[in-house]
Amino acid sequence: MDITQMVWAEKSEVLVIGGGLAGMYAAIEAHRAGRKVRILSKGKVGGSGSSLVSMSVHRFAPKEPGLQEDYRRRFLASGEGEQDLRVAEMLIQQGADTVEALREFGLPLEYRGIETPSGTYHYLACCKPKRGRLLTRELRDYLLANTDAVLDEDVMAFDLVKASGSILGVLAERDGRVVYYPADAVVLAAGGAGNIYRYTSNTTDLTGDGYAMALRAGLRLVGMEFVQFYPYRICTPRRADIFPDVFSHGAVFRNEKGERFMESYPMKELENRDVLARALYRQKRVYLDLTACDWAYLERECPNIADMARKFLDQPLEVRPMAHFFMGGIPLEPDCSTAIKGLFACGEVTGGLHGANRLSGSALTEAALFGRIAGREAAAGGPCLRDAGAERAELEKLLALVGGVDRTGELPERQTLRENMWAAASVERNMEDLRRLHAFLEEMEAQLDRAAPQPLRQWLELRNMTAVSKAVTEAALQRPESLGAHYIVQ
Ligand SMILES: Cc1cc2nc3c(=O)[nH]c(=O)nc-3n(C[C@H](O)[C@H](O)[C@H](O)COP(=O)(O)OP(=O)(O)OC[C@H]3O[C@@H](n4cnc5c(N)ncnc54)[C@H](O)[C@@H]3O)c2cc1C
Repeated sequence: MDITQMVWAEKSEVLVIGGGLAGMYAAIEAHRAGRKVRILSKGKVGGSGSSLVSMSVHRFAPKEPGLQEDYRRRFLASGEGEQDLRVAEMLIQQGADTVEALREFGLPLEYRGIETPSGTYHYLACCKPKRGRLLTRELRDYLLANTDAVLDEDVMAFDLVKASGSILGVLAERDGRVVYYPADAVVLAAGGAGNIYRYTSNTTDLTGDGYAMALRAGLRLVGMEFVQFYPYRICTPRRADIFPDVFSHGAVFRNEKGERFMESYPMKELENRDVLARALYRQKRVYLDLTACDWAYLERECPNIADMARKFLDQPLEVRPMAHFFMGGIPLEPDCSTAIKGLFACGEVTGGLHGANRLSGSALTEAALFGRIAGREAAAGGPCLRDAGAERAELEKLLALVGGVDRTGELPERQTLRENMWAAASVERNMEDLRRLHAFLEEMEAQLDRAAPQPLRQWLELRNMTAVSKAVTEAALQRPESLGAHYIVQ
């Protein structure tokens, strides 16, 4: 691809990549610090990504010392010693204030305890009803009403442009054309990569672009073998999240033979997510049985599931584990900085906070806490010195990787990649399958190098999905023993 075909956009002071909770909060904070902000988002700002489809549940450390200690113990136990304690401690100590601060946007947040077989947790905050949309819509409205941030939607950022260790801007695809967005500072908040797997709870825009951009820019990723597979998701007749609390009110899982296969586990359907995901994965079929469920509770707390059960009386509610959350990513720093000066990262695109597994209800608090920090820090720096020659050389190098008319091969099938990732690198893994998967991904990479980059977005996404799949596979191969969400069958 030629630099003369590229559109050169106006320079931003702070350029945010991603319109989820982390990106929107970063944009609001950078605006508050007096910066001109632009958000590039593949989906609609406030209408895309995991933040939108989340249940909007925050399980956070309250200020009371006893409860904070209890949360610290749970949070650190879930990470299995793989967490970066500097950032973990920030979440533990600042979680309560972070959740409280979200009220500023007028969220219908309510606080309460959650009952489990091992006792009651007194620290849960959620929107009522539990819909991420209530969170993201309010932040979008705030951005539109109170800031002059430019929202560039349906734009896919695909490469970070840097020279001499400093960020210069971002290359993106817009309407099939390449646009260069120069910037003084960039906040990367592009979310996770659920779509590298055949089954995922993520929205279709999450193809791991942030991780792949970081890798191509020479950044290292941590913990990519740790992918959380979510056991609480109905896939048929409609897709919906199951609020785990229903299992304290009579709901159970059954297999195709009608057996309650979690009966023998100490916490039953409320086992740790990875234990439960594996138990589900081993069944032929799994259904959510609401026969003994407290219907008044269901109507009140999970109206969408009550609706579904009523509407599809003759159809069982089928459940399967799905790729849900990436614990790995760009190493999260307390100030959200990265090894590239002027580049900041926050939200699910970062790794290290959760370690080998994530405690439920902690990701949105993370996105809010570190989104704010990233926005402030990005606003605090001044413009870097720009060497026009070096900038042009870097742009030419990155565009050459995309290729042009000389490439005539066909695009490989994205579905084949997703199925292979599911078969060999999902809930249960073994070394032999991982090695075969790695060889397949190398072949896929070679095919992409020969393929015509048409349609451009499809080619760019598949390149990223292949790069992220390789990063997951290589990290998994380097860890031959099970830990947290990474489970090796011996
Ligand atoms: C079904 C579901 C339920 C969940 N429920 C909860 C919950 O109740 N509590 C909790 O704590 N966590 C929950 N999580 C996890 C949590 O929602 C996410 O980890 C969190 O929202 C991530 O926020 P984010 O801003 O980093 O990314 P996202 O919200 O995923 O946003 C990413 C943004 O980046 C954009 N983007 C992606 N690639 C590009 C690109 N190349 N160029 C430009 N833009 C790009 C996307 O369009 C999107 O706007 C849930 C997740 C799912 C999938």
